[in-house]
Amino acid sequence: MTQGSTRLPLKETNSVSSPPNATRQAIVRLQHVHKAYGNGFKALTDINLEIQSGDFLFVTGPSGSGKSTFLKLLYGEERATAGEVMVDGLNVGDLRGDRLAALRRRIGVVFQDYKLIPRRTVAENVTFVLWAQGYGRQEIQRRLTPALKMVGLQHKADSFPDELSGGEQQRASIARAIAGTPPIVLADEPTGNLDADNSWQVIKILKKLHAIGITIIVTTHDESLIRLSNHPVVQIRNGHLYCPQPKL
Ligand code: ADP
Repeated sequence: MTQGSTRLPLKETNSVSSPPNATRQAIVRLQHVHKAYGNGFKALTDINLEIQSGDFLFVTGPSGSGKSTFLKLLYGEERATAGEVMVDGLNVGDLRGDRLAALRRRIGVVFQDYKLIPRRTVAENVTFVLWAQGYGRQEIQRRLTPALKMVGLQHKADSFPDELSGGEQQRASIARAIAGTPPIVLADEPTGNLDADNSWQVIKILKKLHAIGITIIVTTHDESLIRLSNHPVVQIRNGHLYCPQPKL
């Protein structure tokens, strides 16, 4: 997909699976979704999008265009002002308390600034989340090593975040996000603070997760990463979603 390709705003539900696969199911579906913040600012306008289970999707667009807001609607950090946000078969807008917590256990979230607990080791950062998700001691131990291995950080299990490079910190945060084996991983500008090599390492890990069937949604404004990665991309500009024109 070339970056200069014409993009059209589509009013009907956009599906980004390539090629369409009738055997898979929509894991994310937004219909006529609007989001205005408390101060009245309209961050998203009439978003329609369907993402199939097992897809890898980039969401790109300039800073302030609404990418983080889009992800926040998916994991219930923000609520749509209008429209319907369905994730993993649940209407996110209807969920409160335990039901929202249960959905969040099925979504791994990765942030630009890692959000690791500074006074805890890498292993403790991962085990803390598993403990908070209700896993017992044995299960936590069983999950820890594979999660660290997946991101190549077994040897840094006992290091503290400030003893790690930025790339390692981001990989630790990915280990934390996937230790509970969620079917969906959302990554909000995961490479925003990283150099090109470390950015590519992060994308390679996300690709590995995609290869084992996890649905991956990544926001980025790094066009070169998108080109290298060769996954579908949608663009948010000024709160509107644009999909690439299908190739004829
Ligand atoms: P992006 O992730 O593309 O940089 P965001 O989704 O963070 O964009 O923000 C989209 C727009 O919504 C921006 O103009 C931002 O200032 C605004 N915005 C984000 N959060 C809030 C909030 N809590 N209250 C009011 N406006 C907000």
